[in-house]
Amino acid sequence: MFDTHELGRRPGAMQRLSRTVEAPGGDGIFGIAGVIGVPEGAEVRLDLRLESVMEGVLVTGTAHATAEGECVRCLEPLDLTLDADFQEMFSYPDVDDRGRPSARQDDTADEEGEEDRLFVEDGLFDLEPVLRDAVVLALPMQPVCREDCPGLCSECGVRLADDPDHHHDAVDIRWAALQGLAETVQDGEKDVPRRGGDDSQEK
Ligand SMILES: [Zn+2]
Ligand SMILES: [Zn+2]
Repeated sequence: MFDTHELGRRPGAMQRLSRTVEAPGGDGIFGIAGVIGVPEGAEVRLDLRLESVMEGVLVTGTAHATAEGECVRCLEPLDLTLDADFQEMFSYPDVDDRGRPSARQDDTADEEGEEDRLFVEDGLFDLEPVLRDAVVLALPMQPVCREDCPGLCSECGVRLADDPDHHHDAVDIRWAALQGLAETVQDGEKDVPRRGGDDSQEK
């Protein structure tokens, strides 16, 4: 929760502030559960600008945090530094969108987008849903440890970045077994005449 009392309600007033908050966990996680996100309790550094306007407080800012996840290609853990920008309007509940006292609040309640509006309540506003949206937007849907991550070997699952020359001969494993058998037979056939030949030369 952020306090707007110091800012006041005079339109044009502006306040800059920096604050560090802890990332929430559970359903409120700043991220995509099971993929990538800012771990619960991790620091989220906020640089904010609060502007007093007729109908409320316009909040512009950047959230700096480190998200943790794993590479979608090689499954290695990865860290990602985030700078998520956001801007949100927090309306005064007691005025309409032109800054006039809203005696006709029932009428405006039907306006499109009314449900999505965020409000200043008792001089406080809750930035958490805004931060969550901003962080999730800034996160990659397919995080990779590096742009050219070669991923895992499709045959044996070894991490290709650790072993760039890694390859398999394109042979079916059952065929490989037969081939091994054939080589044994060939060796046997070759050995017999050669030894016989050597014997005959020596005599
Ligand atoms: Zn990777
Ligand atoms: Zn392999």
